[in-house]
Amino acid sequence: MNLIFLGAPGAGKGTQAEVVSDTLSIPQISTGNILREAAKNGTEYGVKAKAAMDAGELVSDEIVIGILKERIAEDDCKKGFILDGFPRTVAQAEALDAMNVQIDKVIEISVADEKIKQRLGGRRVCQGCGASYHVEYKPSKVEGICDKCGDKTIIRKDDQPEVVLDRLKTYHEKTAPLKDYYAAQGKLVTVEGQEEVADTTKLTLAAVGVQ
Ligand code: ADP
Ligand code: ZN
Repeated sequence: MNLIFLGAPGAGKGTQAEVVSDTLSIPQISTGNILREAAKNGTEYGVKAKAAMDAGELVSDEIVIGILKERIAEDDCKKGFILDGFPRTVAQAEALDAMNVQIDKVIEISVADEKIKQRLGGRRVCQGCGASYHVEYKPSKVEGICDKCGDKTIIRKDDQPEVVLDRLKTYHEKTAPLKDYYAAQGKLVTVEGQEEVADTTKLTLAAVGVQ
């Protein structure tokens, strides 16, 4: 099964994508994580990407499409994959269609902007492996330490309030039109984000058809 997870920054699409990835045993491909890793390693495209990410803007379609193409060609994607944070523009969605990648469903995790502003302040990310936590909704077992690799969890630079507003604006302008794009293909399923993560997860698994 090939799935796309769509949603505003902080709507919880990554958290939901992770559960579905574990349930179906297919990889979760987060372009945000790949870009942050590249930025950390100081690769050529990583340096370019970092500037855009820190400003709450999108990284260029050219860079992101290139990354994705390489990633989905890897062996572990043969039995399916979950795209978390790609596509984010209509041009990226068209590129995916042009690669003849069959997408089964597009799951939109829908959360109101007000709620998002509140949530992003509590988000923490592991500086080692990129795992994502939330001080209130999804705390790590030991505060400040990643459950998965033991490295430190930190606040992302782009989770600062001013940048969050820019990211939301970018989402509404560039990414939200993908809802119509995939609705027209009959693939869009909207999941309303709930107060409790576990409740959203139930709805997500039902939307994917695994429960
Ligand atoms: P979030 O969904 O919480 O914003 P991500 O980790 O998915 O977080 O993305 C972080 C940043 O990485 C984005 O703000 C953007 O700058 C960049 N990025 C990730 N995926 C894409 C993409 N498909 N196209 C362009 N930029 C991207
Ligand atoms: Zn970690």
